[in-house]
Amino acid sequence: MNEIKTSKKKALIVVGGGITGLSTALTWAINHDVKKEPVLLIEKEPKTGGYVTSYEREDYVFDTCQIIPNLSEILEYLGVDIELKSFKGYYMRIFLVNPDTEEVRVLELPSGVETFKKMLMEKYPNNAQEIRKFLDYSRAMYLELFKLKMEPKFTEILKMLVSCPKIVKNASKTFKKYFEKFKITEPDVIEIFNVFAEFSAIPSEQVVAIVPLSAMNSLLDGAFRPTKGFIEFPKKIEERYLSLGGELRLKTKVEKILVEKDQVKGVRLSDGEEIYSDYVVTTVDPKVAMKDMVGLDIIRQYNKKYADKVEKVKMSTSSMNLSIGLDDEIDLAGLGLDCGYNVITTGGDTYDRLFEAYEKGQIAFSDKLFHIGVVCPSLTTGGRPNIIVRITPMALADWAELREKNYKKYTEKKEKWAEFFIDKVEKYLIPDLRKHILVIDISTPATYARYSGSPSGAVYDMAPYPNNFGRTRLKMRTPIKGLFQPKFVHGVFGCLLAGIQVNDMILDRKIMNGNARMPKS
Ligand SMILES: Cc1cc2nc3c(=O)[nH]c(=O)nc-3n(C[C@H](O)[C@H](O)[C@H](O)COP(=O)(O)OP(=O)(O)OC[C@H]3O[C@@H](n4cnc5c(N)ncnc54)[C@H](O)[C@@H]3O)c2cc1C
Repeated sequence: MNEIKTSKKKALIVVGGGITGLSTALTWAINHDVKKEPVLLIEKEPKTGGYVTSYEREDYVFDTCQIIPNLSEILEYLGVDIELKSFKGYYMRIFLVNPDTEEVRVLELPSGVETFKKMLMEKYPNNAQEIRKFLDYSRAMYLELFKLKMEPKFTEILKMLVSCPKIVKNASKTFKKYFEKFKITEPDVIEIFNVFAEFSAIPSEQVVAIVPLSAMNSLLDGAFRPTKGFIEFPKKIEERYLSLGGELRLKTKVEKILVEKDQVKGVRLSDGEEIYSDYVVTTVDPKVAMKDMVGLDIIRQYNKKYADKVEKVKMSTSSMNLSIGLDDEIDLAGLGLDCGYNVITTGGDTYDRLFEAYEKGQIAFSDKLFHIGVVCPSLTTGGRPNIIVRITPMALADWAELREKNYKKYTEKKEKWAEFFIDKVEKYLIPDLRKHILVIDISTPATYARYSGSPSGAVYDMAPYPNNFGRTRLKMRTPIKGLFQPKFVHGVFGCLLAGIQVNDMILDRKIMNGNARMPKS
């Protein structure tokens, strides 16, 4: 029998060096003497960051991520200094295209909750009171999040009935059901809030209301990007983690999470080495972690409901991304691109129909049906002129297989779709765009699947359906003692927070007293 190589036992092993893993490992290092209670972060790629990164193509530096809310209290807690710059101008502009006449109308949404509210009430006086009620109620519900507990005790549940009544009442409502209560009838206003809902990459009639409402409220408070690129997040967190004595192994793949009876024991790497620990936090795709790394049969022995839940969990959609480097002749500011997001959409039930096709593994984008996000990072944080075109939902379908078995066909397919989306951006947002393009980098669902290790290339972890959110979500604390999976979050903010939350659980509420959020500064 081959001898198993082992390392010294760790106090904590973190699987996956994306933002969730980095935040988890750093929070541990902040709260322990790591000489006595060592923490090891294991990442399969040559660098940390996972989905959060910046990359160079010729003279251009592109970011994967584009926009984040104010993270100052979390960064302060982590002791990480990252310079953020706020988007100026509008928070969002919606280019509503009539697919039959090709006419386009622009809806401009300013930043700042109060400014946004005032603008909508003035522009749509027939619905002014309904709009006010909707925004005030949603804001109050968003603020209740700060009173939620992660694993409430019985008395805390009773307290939450009083302190978080709006969340309790609406916990299982979809955005559409919730929105209908406010009886807003103006088609443009309905369109605007649907676009907000669709930022969760799920149609408004399927996404749980609180997720897009939180994203909307936090981003209306301020939308930012790091001045030196999103790579600053992994870079700075890793630096601080290492400076506190945390251990990091790159280019190292975890194959198994070892379990003995109902207690986690450590991990086995792909080269067979075993590393032991009584605490393991996995931050990789939860289905992969629970099914392939632990084994559902093992989990089922201790908690059948949890195992069934793992099987039922739906992951979020994947995406296609075009990073486009432009020449210096283009006047992006003149086109109003100095703002957060631009959405070009055929509106109405567009997202529902795209999503229906996505669920069947099909692509339904056509000249009559599209929904495209466009951001111009260079106007906010400098660098050579560039735009990012984001497309969801996009299913993995045959992307990964083509990439592996027929690279030529894969390239043709991605170039065909890139052309399609560039055509729409040129037609409705940036005239003569093609004339100015110097570099295009195209990412597909296969790109995301490869980097994250999430087989479907899901960009936002588990999808926030009402039956998989709040009390019904796949819990961070797994049925295996010492094994946690702090996933189910949307974006950088949620991932940073999840890393702190999971340490709070391990440390019996020492950090956040069991609260779901850091206190608002
Ligand atoms: C194109 C794109 C744009 C986005 N834009 C935004 C945005 O504008 N704003 C925002 O807030 N969020 C955005 N997001 C979402 C955000 O990036 C993610 O929610 C977040 O980065 C997820 O972090 P994570 O650590 O949970 O997972 P990941 O980033 O997936 O990290 C998981 C890590 O685990 C590693 N790993 C996997 N398997 C193993 C294994 N077996 N052994 C060891 N390591 C392993 C992977 O290599 C990876 O580094 C975007 C995502 C994408 C893809």
